Amino acid sequence: MADTPRTRLPNARQFPRFAGVSTFCRFPMIEALDAPPDWALYGIPYDGGVTYRPGTRFGPRAIREQSAYVKPYHIEHDLNLAERLSLCDAGDAPVRPYSTKETQEAACAFALSLGDGHTRLLAVGGDHSIALANLRATQKRHGGGRPLAVLHFDSHLDTVDVAWGEKYTHASPFIRAIEETLIDPKRMLSVGIKGPLNTATDLDYGRQQGIELVTYADWRHRNGVERISAFVQRLVRSGEPVYLTFDIDSIDPAYAPGTGTPSIGGFTSSEALDLVRACRGVNLVGADVVEVLPAMDPAGITSLLAAHIIFEILCLAA
Ligand code: MN
Ligand code: MN
Repeated sequence: MADTPRTRLPNARQFPRFAGVSTFCRFPMIEALDAPPDWALYGIPYDGGVTYRPGTRFGPRAIREQSAYVKPYHIEHDLNLAERLSLCDAGDAPVRPYSTKETQEAACAFALSLGDGHTRLLAVGGDHSIALANLRATQKRHGGGRPLAVLHFDSHLDTVDVAWGEKYTHASPFIRAIEETLIDPKRMLSVGIKGPLNTATDLDYGRQQGIELVTYADWRHRNGVERISAFVQRLVRSGEPVYLTFDIDSIDPAYAPGTGTPSIGGFTSSEALDLVRACRGVNLVGADVVEVLPAMDPAGITSLLAAHIIFEILCLAA
């Protein structure tokens, strides 16, 4: 006999997955809960921070729609998400379409209004600039006065100081987060970096700050797998609060074409699921999934993958 579910899901045998209003993974809206949730998922439909193709403002809607097919039981972890955690869709944060900085401030304030002081926050983008908003809220709520450790999946390091005169862009969330002491670069792992760079020195800032940088080539051809495992095991042993940020462009565009700064090569869908699963045991206190661009995603596979990455992240938390 299963425990009473902590998240009430519609019965898929009576109420089809293709029917009804879309919420993330068919979780209830936050207004329908009797008590503050363990995790609040919310969208930040903002793409004013991009340096290449726009359109990720439509990401949360597309991911909600594709996530209707995410079921609650995880075979590998042998757990039912709905039994373990109270989960909800908190809707979308307010955005200021002409200002990245103001959007980050508004979205952070919205995030801090969700649930109570224990509620953890998963933001769905939007471009990667939105991570700074969720990091601010998460560090304030769960950092215990210390910068957070970070697991970062991305083709890009996102530590560009200034682009076109602007300090707040989707290329800069982690340099700003380091400056604001929201995250500790010496306890940050960036996995999947690849593709041509603008200059030979683009990764210098991250290296100087002490980020553990596992490029895609390190993972495929050198000792990247062992380095990731060693890093994760350190986090598991310490039990410190960890933030996970997942940029869908870390996946090969062959599997995830719907993104704004595509970088050829990279992880397959199943490799990405395995990478997230391998983070089992960390004390996850916040996360985001970003950079899904539905207009470049004709079959919806990028949104579908993002929905399943969200599922994998929540299963880590369970
Ligand atoms: Mn990114
Ligand atoms: Mn990227």
